[in-house]
Amino acid sequence: MIVKPCKEPLEFSIWRSLRSRKQNITKEDMQYYFKNLKGFHGELEFEKWCEDLPEDWLCFHNLCLEVKNSKFQLDYIVLTNKSLFLFEIKFYSHDYYFENDTLYTHQNKEVLNPSLQLQRNKTLLRQFLTEHDYDIPIHAYVIFINPHFFLYYAPLDVPYLHSFVYPPQLKRFKKKLHEIYFNTQVILSYQKLQDLSNLFLKQSFVPKNLMRIPSFNFAELKKGIRCKNCSSLQTRIKTKLISCEKCGISEKKKEAVLRNIEEFILLFPSQKLTTTKIYQWCKILSQKTIYQILRSNFKPTKKTRYTYYQ
Ligand SMILES: [Zn+2]
Repeated sequence: MIVKPCKEPLEFSIWRSLRSRKQNITKEDMQYYFKNLKGFHGELEFEKWCEDLPEDWLCFHNLCLEVKNSKFQLDYIVLTNKSLFLFEIKFYSHDYYFENDTLYTHQNKEVLNPSLQLQRNKTLLRQFLTEHDYDIPIHAYVIFINPHFFLYYAPLDVPYLHSFVYPPQLKRFKKKLHEIYFNTQVILSYQKLQDLSNLFLKQSFVPKNLMRIPSFNFAELKKGIRCKNCSSLQTRIKTKLISCEKCGISEKKKEAVLRNIEEFILLFPSQKLTTTKIYQWCKILSQKTIYQILRSNFKPTKKTRYTYYQ
């Protein structure tokens, strides 16, 4: 059962908006965004893989926990009444190779060994469980979920490499988890299992600044109605519809405006919602239309000479 599902971080919505509206995003920032995006897609893929696990195995995506002032983030865990499976998900693509205990990309760039992160997380999770009086075996794995990943020269005599699971092994790996489960004694009663599940949910926090966002301000961003399908700002009014010149998708005028108001609120949460501001933001509609949409969907507040909406 998926207890804490993969949920797209808010930062991705901000990034999508900035990609359409902000000029001069640096190459490094774009690479950083795509790296995070790929990582998230990897976690989504893994969740799909988890969907047919037994109903009483509890799945949690992205638990952020703290023990003795150390914060740690777990990509995915599956909690059963006999053991806990901890997964570090990697969406590496292309070829990598191993040399002198170090992992390199095909372009000979050194990469942080994911087993180090896995070990750190396993240790901290063990401490967290002990602190809350749970003693349950932890089985930890690094999952390489991208079918286009290949690791060369992985020596069999390096113990931690046995915790690496490669794309072609994923099917068999599910069998392995079942074997581990059936060969282990029950440790947690039904109630204890529920208690631990609730503890994870209660203690997990949303980290501040999950992802880096390039700085931006209202004046510099391109204005217009952003297409719901392709994110293009090349949209035009066609009677009661807003139509995208790039992908051809149309949307009702009111829905398109409300969606773009939501985007404005996401980008500028502390700015007041006024007719003038949203008129500038949406650009292609009349001030009267914006006024009517704001008036019928938000609560007007008039504390100064200007009305704003909440
Ligand atoms: Zn479009």
